[in-house]
Amino acid sequence: MTRSWLFVPLALLLAFVTACGGSGPSQPASTSDAPEAGAADSPQTEDSVVNVYSARHYDTDDQVFGAFEEETGIKVHIVEGDSAALLERLRREGEESPADLFIAVDAGRLFHAEQAGIFDSVTSEILEERIPASLRHPEGLWFGLTKRARVIVYAKDRVEAGEINTYEDLADPKWQGRVLIRSSSNVYNQSLMGAMVAAHGEPAAEEWCKGLVANLARKPQGGDRDQVRAVAAGEGDVAVVNSYYLAQMIAATDKPEDQAAAAAVGIVFPNQGDRGTHVNISGAGVVRGAPHRQNAIRLLEYLTGADAQAIFAGGNKEYAVVDGYAAVPELEGFGEFQEDSVNASVFGSSGQQALRMMDRCGWR
Ligand code: FE
Repeated sequence: MTRSWLFVPLALLLAFVTACGGSGPSQPASTSDAPEAGAADSPQTEDSVVNVYSARHYDTDDQVFGAFEEETGIKVHIVEGDSAALLERLRREGEESPADLFIAVDAGRLFHAEQAGIFDSVTSEILEERIPASLRHPEGLWFGLTKRARVIVYAKDRVEAGEINTYEDLADPKWQGRVLIRSSSNVYNQSLMGAMVAAHGEPAAEEWCKGLVANLARKPQGGDRDQVRAVAAGEGDVAVVNSYYLAQMIAATDKPEDQAAAAAVGIVFPNQGDRGTHVNISGAGVVRGAPHRQNAIRLLEYLTGADAQAIFAGGNKEYAVVDGYAAVPELEGFGEFQEDSVNASVFGSSGQQALRMMDRCGWR
C-alpha cells in the first residue's frame, strides 16, 4: 500500500482539524509524514491497483487496505486529504483523474461529492444485500461503510435517567442554560439539522433550532469530546456527541481524565419512542471514469465483509453498517437502539439549507 498526503492550504487544514474536533484518530496525518516530493501526484495506473482518494483518516483503515491487497493482489494507493481539497483535486484533474474510489465521512460530504458529479452509479448484489437501503444512495452513487449515532449525554449526578429522551427535548425551556453542542459549521450538526427538517418540515425545525440556541450553556466551541468534558466539568448538563467519541473516551486508558469524564455521563439514544436516533455514515462511491472501476467495486464489496467491517468500523469504535456483526465492547455497553430510517441522502442533501437555517436561528 502506498500513501500520499494531499497538500492543502493551512487555513483549509485548520478548518478541517477544527471540524473534526480535538485530538484523536480522526485527525489527518501530519504533513511531515508526506512522501517524497512528487509522489503525491503520481497515483498508480497499472491494472492491479486501485486509487483511493480518502477523506477518512483512521490508522486502522490501513490494516483493512493491507488485508485487501494480500487477498486480491490489488495494490491500494491512497491519496489523503480533507474532503473539500480532494474534491477540488478531482475537479482539476477532470477526465484525466486516476481516482477510482472516493471515501468521505458524513452523508453531507458525500452529497457535496455527488453534487460535484464525481460519482458513477454502481450496481452490486453484494452491496445491495449487505447495506441497508437507508445507508446507501438510492441509485448506487455511494454506499455507507460504517455508521455512528448522534447521541445525547447527561450529567449523571444532576440529571435523572429518562429526564431527556429526544432531540426535541433539547429545545424545551427546562434545559435553559444547560445544553452543550459544537458549532453549526460542523457537518455532523448540519446533518442532524437536516434530519430535523426531514422529520418536522422547515418551519418547525427552525423553531426547534431557536429553542436549542436559547438553551445553550455557552457559545458553541470545541469538538464532540469537548462537550462531554464540559458536562463532566459542570459547564452544562446535557450534550450532543457522536457515539464513537464517547466510546473512544471510555477506552482511553492513556487519558484517565477522559475516562473519568466519560464515566460521569449517561447516554441516551434519542427518539426511541418515535422515529429513532439519527445515524450518519462514512461511505464511498466509485468515481466517474475510474480507470480501475472493477477493482474499486471489489474494494467496496470487500469493505462490507465481516473481517473488514470489524476493523474498519471497530477500529474507530463505529457501528458496522452490515447487520449482524458484533460491535466493540464499548458500543455493546451502550445497548441496542432503534435508528431513524430516513435515507442518508435526505439529510445529506439538506445540509446547505440546514446551515442557512442555523445561521438565521443564531447557532454559530
Ligand atoms: Fe469525527
